[in-house]
Amino acid sequence: SRQAGARTWTEQDVKRSFPIRQPFSHKGTNGKGFLIGGGIEMPGSVTMSSMAALRAGAGLLTVGTLRQVIPSVLSHLAEATFTSLDEENGVIVDTEDLDVSAYDAIVVGMGMGRGESTAALTKRVLEEAEVPVLLDADGLYHIKSDLEILRNRQAPTVLTPHPGEMAMLLDMKVPELLERPFELARKFAIVHQVHLVLKGTYTIITAPDGSQIVNTTGNPGLGKGGSGDVLSGILLAMLMQHEDPMEAIANGVYVHGKAADVLVEDAHSQQDLLATDLMKGLAKVFRNIS
Ligand code: AMP
Ligand code: MG
Repeated sequence: SRQAGARTWTEQDVKRSFPIRQPFSHKGTNGKGFLIGGGIEMPGSVTMSSMAALRAGAGLLTVGTLRQVIPSVLSHLAEATFTSLDEENGVIVDTEDLDVSAYDAIVVGMGMGRGESTAALTKRVLEEAEVPVLLDADGLYHIKSDLEILRNRQAPTVLTPHPGEMAMLLDMKVPELLERPFELARKFAIVHQVHLVLKGTYTIITAPDGSQIVNTTGNPGLGKGGSGDVLSGILLAMLMQHEDPMEAIANGVYVHGKAADVLVEDAHSQQDLLATDLMKGLAKVFRNIS
């Protein structure tokens, strides 16, 4: 009843809506992404997100992170470029001369820490960027006390909370959220005018108009640290390559889960699957789409 109107995103939907990579496209037209995150204690989060964004087709990717984190990202990914963020005592802080105008979409939050000045950076990006901005992880925490900021944006805003983060945003307990996730997600997306991706076994994607899509790909192999970071990277790439944000998000959530599904069918198991393995699964998934 409460999920009335929500539609399931199928393989057919993906094949129908997935953008064709044009013969005359080049790195400049395939999307310039900006990924902000990764503190000293969580450099892997931004690494996994970056790998996923490039594997999902981003033309160019810049990582905004602490200077000390750059070598760790680079060791996994020679293709990324970097902007070092201001820091105080090893913590990312607000960076006044940060130029957010050169990108086609931006992701903020993974592993970046929860300090007030870190939060100020997240809010700056939301206020200044005229392109789609996705908030994940600590980025969601940063806006909790300033949710009005979301409605003021002109370009799409995408939030990707897992149930714990969604409950934090709603000031409720997780079981209470899970009693009526469709209804609460719809209300939140409408009130704050965001694209809300409530992650879970069945991820619920809600548009600012309240329309909803449910994803059914994915398996318990994704229940490990890093899976969400890979999703945010995939979504960054999808948002830059697709006009319609709802289709872009639904396709990204679908391929993320499908990558896990194809991997546990042969090379891996739900037990041993790691988030970094998903990159290999993406190859098979994308080849089957186009
Ligand atoms: P995070 O908690 O931020 O790392 O995100 C976890 C990601 O893995 C989300 O995209 C979830 O939808 C996905 N995931 C986790 N557990 C499962 C599961 N049991 N079945 C399907 N997807 C899952
Ligand atoms: Mg996460």
